[in-house]
Amino acid sequence: MALPPEIPLRPATIAAQAAGATDQASGGVVPAIHMATTFARDENYAPLNPDNVYVRYHNENVRVAERLLSRLEQAAETLLFPSGMAAVAAVFRTVPSGGSVVVQSQIYWGTTDWIRTFCARRDIALHEVEASDLDALSAVCQAHHPALVWVETPSNPWLRITDISGAAGIAHGVGAQLVVDSTAASPALSQPLLHGADIVMHSATKGINGHSDVLAGSLSVSDAESSVWQMIRTDRDTAGAVMGSMEAWLLTRGMRTLPLRMREMSRNAMALAQYLSDHPQIENVLYPGLPDHPGHAIAARQMSGGFGGLLSFVVTGGSAAALRAAGRLQLFHRATSLGGVESLVEHRYTIESHTGIPEGLLRVSVGIEDADDLIADLGQALGQ
Ligand code: PLP
Repeated sequence: MALPPEIPLRPATIAAQAAGATDQASGGVVPAIHMATTFARDENYAPLNPDNVYVRYHNENVRVAERLLSRLEQAAETLLFPSGMAAVAAVFRTVPSGGSVVVQSQIYWGTTDWIRTFCARRDIALHEVEASDLDALSAVCQAHHPALVWVETPSNPWLRITDISGAAGIAHGVGAQLVVDSTAASPALSQPLLHGADIVMHSATKGINGHSDVLAGSLSVSDAESSVWQMIRTDRDTAGAVMGSMEAWLLTRGMRTLPLRMREMSRNAMALAQYLSDHPQIENVLYPGLPDHPGHAIAARQMSGGFGGLLSFVVTGGSAAALRAAGRLQLFHRATSLGGVESLVEHRYTIESHTGIPEGLLRVSVGIEDADDLIADLGQALGQ
């Protein structure tokens, strides 16, 4: 049973009911897990179920999760991938050799690193620009007429905010597709397609799954007939960057609480940001929910229900002081990633010292624990 698309349900309802996915065969109120990799044909060689022939093309658990994500993202279609990076790669593989792309600078380092290598190997001209500066983005696009423009908002770990509708206008003005990595926001807080993006990408490993136990990526599109989307869809199924049934089922289960989790994480992150802003050991707090954040007004316009659980701050005293504070934390796991129900802390300089990241920067992914407990832990770790 699918929830009727003509009823304008709100995200919390769509998510809690998994867009209407149940198990028709057993009457179960949650979908079953289908582990078959291949599906039978009848004596006339017609598939018993025309939607199911071979699991690389046809996976019911993947379709259920994709339908749910499409409803939450207000997309025409969604494709799941076995990781966020597989989704990134699927987009860039559509750019012809000799083409050009514009990519936001100082985004998730894994994305930048892979794109640089891929573009060099494919003879694609890569232009990196601080896309939250729309004048700079416009100048680069006018000069190079890229096939695609890639932005990440809020960006990880700088928490920069790019105006999606402004970036879409610039990209479309030169005939480019705008792709937005919206991982830090999740569809619970932001729907980039409604602001003019052509494709929205997520590391669904993060907030969408929300429990640090599934590796996943997604692409959602506003025009499912576009030639770029046709290439992505065909390539995913034929080249085989597909997700397994168990992961897709877990992802659906995770998404049932997505709006609830993102609301709580945002509330907690805001409380921590305010606390850290007044802390004598803290030089700078990067969080778009703070009124003095340079992207606050844009974030308030294109996000709703909160500003997310990702927050960075710079500890006075550089690397040594930041590592000392991280080492003293008792509730925040010292681990990479973000978007899970448990809070994490990461010293990004240890991982990407060459990217201009401040030595004292700690990035935290704020979970759904009690905010007062998290603040008390930060207080003791920072020495007061
Ligand atoms: N995009 C962002 C913003 C990320 O933070 C990450 C992972 O940390 C990725 C993409 C890559 O996703 P995955 O680790 O699921 O491949």
